[in-house]
Amino acid sequence: MTSPADRTAAIHTALQRWFGFDALRPMQREAIDAVLDGRDALVVMPTGGGKSLCYQLPALVQDRLVVVVSPLIALMQDQVDGLRVAGVPAAAAHSNLDASARAELRAMAQDGSLRLLFVAPERLFMDGFLRWLANVRPAAIAIDEAHCISQWGHDFRPEYRRLAELRDRLPGVPCVAFTATATPRVREDIEAQLRLHDPVRLVGTFDRPELCYRVLPRQDLEGQVAAAIRRHPDAASIVYCIARKDTEALASALQQRGIAAEAYHAGLAAGERTRIAADFRAERLHVIVATVAFGMGIDRGDVRLVVHAGMPKSLEAYQQETGRAGRDGLPAECLLLYSAADGAKWRSVMERSHAESGGDPEALRSQLHLLQQMQRFAGRARGRHRAISEYFGQAYDEPDCGACDVCLHELEPIPDGHVLAQKILSAVVRTGQRFGAAYVIDVLRGSRGEKVLQRGHDRLPTFGVCKGVPQGLLGNAIDQLVDDGVLMRSDGEYPTLALGGDAMAVLKGERQAVLLAPKQSLSARGNRGRRDAARGGEREAPRDLDAGEQRLFDVLRQLRRTIANELGVPPFVVFADATLDEMARVRPRTPQALLAVKGVGQKKLDSFGVRFLGAIGTFCGEHGLAPGGDAVPVVAGVRVAVEGPAGDGPRRAAARAAAALLFRAGKDLATCARELGRAPSTVLEYLAEWIEAERPASIDPWVASDVQSRVRAVVQRSEDGRLKPIFDALGGEVAYDTIRLVAAHVRGEAAAAGGG
Ligand code: ADP
Repeated sequence: MTSPADRTAAIHTALQRWFGFDALRPMQREAIDAVLDGRDALVVMPTGGGKSLCYQLPALVQDRLVVVVSPLIALMQDQVDGLRVAGVPAAAAHSNLDASARAELRAMAQDGSLRLLFVAPERLFMDGFLRWLANVRPAAIAIDEAHCISQWGHDFRPEYRRLAELRDRLPGVPCVAFTATATPRVREDIEAQLRLHDPVRLVGTFDRPELCYRVLPRQDLEGQVAAAIRRHPDAASIVYCIARKDTEALASALQQRGIAAEAYHAGLAAGERTRIAADFRAERLHVIVATVAFGMGIDRGDVRLVVHAGMPKSLEAYQQETGRAGRDGLPAECLLLYSAADGAKWRSVMERSHAESGGDPEALRSQLHLLQQMQRFAGRARGRHRAISEYFGQAYDEPDCGACDVCLHELEPIPDGHVLAQKILSAVVRTGQRFGAAYVIDVLRGSRGEKVLQRGHDRLPTFGVCKGVPQGLLGNAIDQLVDDGVLMRSDGEYPTLALGGDAMAVLKGERQAVLLAPKQSLSARGNRGRRDAARGGEREAPRDLDAGEQRLFDVLRQLRRTIANELGVPPFVVFADATLDEMARVRPRTPQALLAVKGVGQKKLDSFGVRFLGAIGTFCGEHGLAPGGDAVPVVAGVRVAVEGPAGDGPRRAAARAAAALLFRAGKDLATCARELGRAPSTVLEYLAEWIEAERPASIDPWVASDVQSRVRAVVQRSEDGRLKPIFDALGGEVAYDTIRLVAAHVRGEAAAAGGG
């Protein structure tokens, strides 16, 4: 590549051709440049930031192999499927390859067509693999999920440690590490372990503007989770629980409420885990209730909801897990149902495991510190986008993010909150400040449990004063009083409650206590008109789809699922939700307009264009939705007649455009009729028009060649081109339809010869 301008042009051509994108996202260009310049680099970008493109594009621009080390087979396979559907020669090398995949890989490697090779770290060091690589001299080695190399990261994998050997075995091949984990310690560790030489360091923005964060008091877990899932009908949702047994209980509670949810955790049989993950990827299953064992390796970009049924143990974990929502750049919701008791639970888990393993006290202190930060985040009503950005060391300059519970003012004071607080405090005092929240709640709700009766607490004046108030609401009210310092909770496995500094003032009515509860109806997303910034200024944040567009979007999603099934790949590999969303808004009616939709590259246009254009055209016609798009379709240099005769409605124009693509591909009439959902007679009419306008070199797919020559001879002799005399001259042996097609071809040729 000679000049920067040439490079820019080459990058943009490849970006449009292979991926159908019109612009790079922030930092992608810098990362691509680093690879093209042969530099080592460390790229830190949040999940969904677009890391893959940074190593895929250089391979295509240079026409050379890039090797990608990746920790999970599922993750590799998705990428390979995605690249192949886009027309990029890609393969994976791991221990589960069958014989045919191995042979295919060898062939691609030998003929030099392979552009991206995904490798499991352990595979790299088996049977002469590195020797082979040294011969091939790849353009770069990309290390995906590079934080797996660090024991300070959350997914340490010992096999990643050996990657340093690559530097000796492949001298001069640049190494680029990618991760979404931001802590400086992990970053330094990656650089040192991989022996990156004078690396380009690129650290992206950690804010994810498309996510709406909610941290709401956990008052009625099942009801709250069910309501959240219903805010995102037919969309993928992941619900995280801390313990395995909680996943099963919650999944079955959701099933009882009519939500098809399945539990997933490391205790399930391997086959069962694989089945559930596969169902989720194939969009046969939308709701998974899981421990954090579910996540890495889930590439589904259209996750619209991530719920934490309990608080995670650090903001790093929270960021990672919520990061699985909205990877396609469309709005998504992250709901954390919080109870201060979660912190105490984690603390005792950490202390117990530390005591059992006799671990490093410094490590325990660091874990507890991270936990405390998480608790502070959850407990404080501070703009969530700001809090997360600042935690990761990045300034946040919007006064109001418009996409979190705090900025959307979703908590409101509950009526009589002050009186409720007084009742709670009074029960704590009357029971001697010796009991935990669960017991105090029993007394308040008038439980006749054995312990309450034994202690004579059923005779207290506070006994039963909160009869009928839900347990979760009382538990949360206690949490809020603890967060406000009105109550204190002791540490340890069985924390007890005691009065805090302001308690007497509240009891005497000198200070008003305010207790908050979430509003009943929450929106599925925040106010997203707020920045240019769906992903760093790439475009205006989109408005919601209107009802008609939403229906079209659903139709397109169904079509995507059908195609994915036919190809045996996950649906997101065919098109991302963001692409279908744009199709539903723009409603392209020509191949060219479809090509302009983000995420539609040339190969995908060729493979799927007809069916999507057909579906859009049909839907618009049937539902009176105006199609949009470009009226001058040119596909790969071929002018396509779509405008048709005057008075041709938009629906017909769209159908003609779709038909043209099928004709170009030489599809027979029955196939065209089926794919277009049109009567064969209509399709024949389109075909005749197309043949005349397009003048294809041959019409062999539709008329046998010996019949063509017979008909052609008669047509050429005909003076006025009327069909009946031609039909008769052929002795009635050739159908009218066939004659029509040959006549159209002859007319087209005559016009061409006449300069028309
Ligand atoms: P990461 O690996 O950082 O989590 P991905 O590489 O999976 O993110 O990209 C997330 C999504 O963003 C994918 O759907 C990808 O196709 C899309 N994407 C990446 N780069 C661009 C771009 N320049 N323009 C539009 N979409 C992009």
